[in-house]
Amino acid sequence: MAKYWNEKVECMSREDMKKLQDEKLVKQVRHVWDNVPYYKKLMEEKGVTPDDIKSTDDLHKLPFLKKDDLRECYPYGLLGAPLKDCVRIQSTSGTTGKRVVAFYTQNDIDLWEDCCARAITAAGGTSEDVVQVAYGYGLFTGGAGIHGGSHKVGCLTLPMSSGNTERQIQFMRDLNATILCCTPSYAAYIGETLKEMGLTPNDINLKAGIFGAEPWTEEMRQEIEKSLGIKAYDIFGLTEISGPGVSFECSEQNGMHINEDHFIAEIINPETGEVLPEGSKGELVFTSLDKEAFPLLRYRTRDICVLSRAKCSCGRTLVRMTKPMGRSDDMLIIKGVNVFPSQIETVLLKDFNATPNYQIVVDRVGNTDTFEIKVELSDEMHTDTIKSVEMLEKKLSADIHQILGIRAKITLCEPKSIPRSEGKAVRVIDKRKVYNA
Ligand code: ADP
Ligand code: ZN
Repeated sequence: MAKYWNEKVECMSREDMKKLQDEKLVKQVRHVWDNVPYYKKLMEEKGVTPDDIKSTDDLHKLPFLKKDDLRECYPYGLLGAPLKDCVRIQSTSGTTGKRVVAFYTQNDIDLWEDCCARAITAAGGTSEDVVQVAYGYGLFTGGAGIHGGSHKVGCLTLPMSSGNTERQIQFMRDLNATILCCTPSYAAYIGETLKEMGLTPNDINLKAGIFGAEPWTEEMRQEIEKSLGIKAYDIFGLTEISGPGVSFECSEQNGMHINEDHFIAEIINPETGEVLPEGSKGELVFTSLDKEAFPLLRYRTRDICVLSRAKCSCGRTLVRMTKPMGRSDDMLIIKGVNVFPSQIETVLLKDFNATPNYQIVVDRVGNTDTFEIKVELSDEMHTDTIKSVEMLEKKLSADIHQILGIRAKITLCEPKSIPRSEGKAVRVIDKRKVYNA
């Protein structure tokens, strides 16, 4: 059984990898300078030109890119290739207010799918396997990326998309799926449903799962492994950098190997931007070395984690990142959708014409996220009749759904019932414990 998808790269010596990255970085900086006026301007503002970047040792001289830059550049401002050479657009989950779109040339798609093929191979996948892709298909990168990777490996691919859980289980059984790919919360839900249907892991043929796109804990891993009778592998990615497969877990299940031949990872202090030494906890920053259409340099992910170059017994030399341990911004991932509290605040302001007191409460019941927005009523709101309260609730609920693509339970409460804080308002109460402590 092939252990690696691309042994030459995945097990490359440190010196060779650095040389490869050095060469690619010099070229990529030139490509961005020549083709992305927005980033060229950022470089000029910092007094850096492509001549200053001779190797990865000079990476720290380059300016950062943030999600705000992506929003400001929406939709074409960071495009690094002519549109006629682009073949695909993907977008971050669900949101209208804070949408990020990424473009791909055919070469970018090949590179991305290749990364996913490495992840599938690391989870034991071969052309003998049947891969059930239960990530959503569409603008979301989850379905498309894993689907392409599964084809590359030559697996029999079941493009199920998410939802219709009983049918997922029926197909899984009838067609002998061996590898399940979806979000960890959906995997847990499939496990729960299997049990409810009176079935056990012995009734299915799964051996492994590749789960990502949202944070999950070791406890959740154990639960999923038990309920489905599999080994559960983590996979990490973000739309801005391509999608799932930026990094992936090997059989050691001890951190995710970053595909360093395509993406340079740095850890920085989120407050100062200073690059931190290996082993420090900080914000993960990626530089894409090969992307043509959407070539982001020093993109700040806002994910907090630690990098390690300690030898991995799987044989891969690719640097490992821990599971994200938190975020340096306030982004929540609820039901797989990226949610910023500011989006909710915007809706409240629009619907109430005033700053309301509110609180967002997120929890997990069984394996499903619950999402409640408590909004305090005030005298100015003209909610003196039950009917007007109901109408307000309905309007809020519809507006939230329109912006986020998911539903929230709206609870209107008595004036002064939401606790006031003397410092920063506590807007979010997340009871889920999605990150490992
Ligand atoms: P994707 O479409 O690849 O899920 P998005 O761009 O919508 O990506 O969201 C990316 C974010 O999702 C990451 O920055 C990270 O916060 C989170 N994420 C993705 N994979 C994982 C994972 N395996 N564990 C924890 N968080 C993850
Ligand atoms: Zn390994």
